[in-house]
Amino acid sequence: MAVKVIAEKCISCGICVKNCPFDAIDMVDKKAVIGDKCTICGVCVQKCPVEAIEKEEGEKRGVDIDDYRGVWVFAEQREGKLLNVAIELLGEGRKIADKLNTQLTAVLLGNNVDDLAEKLVKYGADNVLYGDSKLLEVYTTDGYAKVICELIEERKPEIMLIGATNIGRDLGPRISARIHTGLTADCTRLEVDLENRRLLQTRPAFGGNLMATIICPNYRPQMSTVRPGVMEKAKYDENRQGNIEKFTPNLEEEDIKAKVVEFVKGGKAQVKLEEANIIVSGGRGLGNPEGFKLIEDLANKLGGVVGASRATVDAGWIEQSHQVGQTGKTVRPTLYIACGISGAIQHLAGMQDSKVIIAINKDKDAPIFKVADYGIVGDVYEVIPELIEGLDNIDEIMESIN
Ligand SMILES: Cc1cc2nc3c(=O)[nH]c(=O)nc-3n(C[C@H](O)[C@H](O)[C@H](O)COP(=O)(O)OP(=O)(O)OC[C@H]3O[C@@H](n4cnc5c(N)ncnc54)[C@H](O)[C@@H]3O)c2cc1C
Repeated sequence: MAVKVIAEKCISCGICVKNCPFDAIDMVDKKAVIGDKCTICGVCVQKCPVEAIEKEEGEKRGVDIDDYRGVWVFAEQREGKLLNVAIELLGEGRKIADKLNTQLTAVLLGNNVDDLAEKLVKYGADNVLYGDSKLLEVYTTDGYAKVICELIEERKPEIMLIGATNIGRDLGPRISARIHTGLTADCTRLEVDLENRRLLQTRPAFGGNLMATIICPNYRPQMSTVRPGVMEKAKYDENRQGNIEKFTPNLEEEDIKAKVVEFVKGGKAQVKLEEANIIVSGGRGLGNPEGFKLIEDLANKLGGVVGASRATVDAGWIEQSHQVGQTGKTVRPTLYIACGISGAIQHLAGMQDSKVIIAINKDKDAPIFKVADYGIVGDVYEVIPELIEGLDNIDEIMESIN
C-alpha cells in the first residue's frame, strides 16, 4: 500500500473517513486504517488536520514504458468472417503506428482462419499474431483473455485497440485488469502525443455532455475500445506483404470455465446499421409508431435499412438497435435520409459523416438542414409517398428527362 497512517499522530477525528471518495478508510480501535479499496488518490493526505497520513515514498508506480513498443489491434472474427470494426481499427492503428514510427500488429484468434491472416496484412498490418486452436473457434472470455495476456506479457506492445463490440467490451476490461493497465472504453477519437508516445483517448463523458481526453501515463499497453463505425476503414492493398506468425496457444480445456453448449440466434435479426449503404431514418415528426411503416417502405424501395432518432426509441415506437447517434450507432452510409428528425447534436454525432444527407422536415429552420446536402421542407406524409411513387416510375421519369 502506498498510503500509510502514522498511528501515533492519529487523533481519530474521522475526517479522512468522511472525505475518502472510495470508502477505503475505517476507524479501528480509534485509529484510521486504510483498506484495499484505496486508490492512492491522496485526498486523505490533504484533509488530515494533523498530518497523520502520508504517501509512502520510494514505491515506483507503473512500468518502464520504454520497454513497450508497437501498436496492436484485436482482429475480431466471428464464424470465420472478419468484423468491419477490425478493418476500421487497422486503418486507425496504421496511422498511429506510422506517427510513432513503429509496427502495426493484428492479433487474430480462431481455428482454421488462415485466409483472414492474409487479409489483415493486405489491410495494413505489418505482423499478424495468429493463434490457431479448436479451443479458440468460438469466443470465450477465459480462452481469449489468457492467450492475449500471455502475448502482451511476452511481447510488450505500447498500444492495444479493441472494437467496442459485445465481445470487445467483455474482453478488453478482462485483459486490462489482469495485466494491470488502464482502458478507455468507447473512444470516438484517438491521437498521439509524440513527445512522450502517449495515446490521447477521447470519449463522451458525463452523459455525453462533454468530451473527455484520457491518458494512461504510467502503465502499458495503453488500451482503448473503439465503437464500430467511428473510424474509417483501412484500404485493401493486394500487393502488401507482412509477417504472419501462426502459433499454437498454450491453452487447455480446463483453462476455459464456461462451455459454449449451443448458439441460439435471436428471433428477430438485428439491423446492421453500421454496414448499410442506405439508411432511411424516422424521428418524432412521424407522430406515431405506425409512421415507421412508411419509413420501411422507402427503405425497402431503395434497398436500405431503417434508422431512428432516440426520441422514437424512448417512445417505444421502434427497437433500440435502430437508434442512430451518440448513444446509438455511428453510421457513415452513402445515403442518409432523415425524416421528421430535428437534428439534435447527439443525433448528428452518429450520422454527419454520411456521404449524402437528405432531410425532410416541415420546419425550414430545423438544424438538420445545416448538415443536409439536400433539404425538402414539407410533411413526411406527403413527401415520402411522392418519393416512393417517383421511384416506382423512375424509368419513365428518366426517359422523359432524356
Ligand atoms: C446524453 C444524450 C444522448 C443522446 N443520444 C441520442 C442519440 O444517440 N440519438 C438521437 O437521435 N438522440 C439522442 N439524444 C436525444 C436528442 O437530444 C434529441 O432529443 C433527439 O434526437 C430528438 O429526436 P427527434 O429529432 O426525432 O425529435 P424532435 O427533436 O422532437 O424533432 C422532431 C422534428 O420533426 C419535425 N416534424 C414534425 N412533424 C413533422 C412532419 N409531419 N413532417 C416533417 N417533419 C415533421 C419537427 O419540425 C422537428 O424538427 C440524446 C440526448 C442526450 C442528452
